[in-house]
Amino acid sequence: MTVQETLRQLVAIDSVSSRSNAEIISYLAARCEARGLNVKRFPYIDDKGVEKINLVAQTSVSHPNPALDLALVGHTDTVPYDPDWTDALKLTERDGKLFGRGACDTKAFISAALTAIENIDFARLKKPLALAFTADEEIGCLGAKRLADGRSFTARYAILGEPTSLQPMRAGKGYCLAEITVRGREAHSAYPQIGASAIFRAARLIERIEQIAEQLKADQRAAFDPPYTTLNVGLIQGGSAKNIIAGECRFTLEWRAIPGQKSDYVLDLINQAIRDLEKQDMDFVCEIKASRADDSFETRADSELVQFLEETCGRPSGTVAFGTEAPSMIELGAEAIVFGPGDIRVAHRTGEFVPFDQLNNCVRILSNAIERFCS
Ligand SMILES: [Zn+2]
Repeated sequence: MTVQETLRQLVAIDSVSSRSNAEIISYLAARCEARGLNVKRFPYIDDKGVEKINLVAQTSVSHPNPALDLALVGHTDTVPYDPDWTDALKLTERDGKLFGRGACDTKAFISAALTAIENIDFARLKKPLALAFTADEEIGCLGAKRLADGRSFTARYAILGEPTSLQPMRAGKGYCLAEITVRGREAHSAYPQIGASAIFRAARLIERIEQIAEQLKADQRAAFDPPYTTLNVGLIQGGSAKNIIAGECRFTLEWRAIPGQKSDYVLDLINQAIRDLEKQDMDFVCEIKASRADDSFETRADSELVQFLEETCGRPSGTVAFGTEAPSMIELGAEAIVFGPGDIRVAHRTGEFVPFDQLNNCVRILSNAIERFCS
């Protein structure tokens, strides 16, 4: 089957994260079984009660839980699509580009991986290879985290399919979120002395957070743009009326940590700022709920996988600013690289596409990678 036909069939299966991915997993399992791979499903029920499945398909090996030499990892879910995009599930070709939901992120990579294994004689491979297909990447890399928590396999090298325009990406910033609630005391605004404004208090804390953002600029990793950990207060809500002293103010803090900085490093700085504010205002009440803490990742520039992909693609490795499943693969012992056809800047939008030549090149590069790391 051609890589384009495989992509057409994958795009035709609706696998938006909110739905069960059982259908696309059945398709992928059948394709892998037809090539003689051993297929193992790792099902779970998500927090909405929907069945999700991770799938690991590996070449025959005597040991039931072998260390793999190479894992090709692709997420099966996509972001939702606009109902007005009537061809979202119908792969459409125009000007050398293939359009469809997931065509870029990340069914193109999966099609390339399936095509690559069809061109390879497994009998010649001396080292184990696996294809891993995950669920719920788009809503927090939840499937990959489960594979990591369950120690479902270990791998020496992992290539994670994401649209990078075929540039190998060896490092990525972390992604963390916290909800911060500052409390005050409501009162008539004509008598501020009997209340305490949660908004004034939150403003003081946010000013401190802005200072922390400045302080974080001192710790730099040149490979990133910008080269330091960034902070953002993206949402804020507080108060109930113009003439009431605000009793509560909530805001969302997001930070993207450079490799080498633990995900709770920023949280510790924020907590220190809160303790300082408590010293100045005995009444200061504030709660922090950390809701997400995805670690950064970094694979050494001299890793054989990095060097191989740099040579084969003819491009130096780079870094990504978006969240990926790479930290989970690193937890499983792998040297991980994010790599795939298509441009992340067209992913997640109506009319996402993958250039046909990149899709074909990806098949070639993945075939070479399998030959190189599994022979
Ligand atoms: Zn993706």
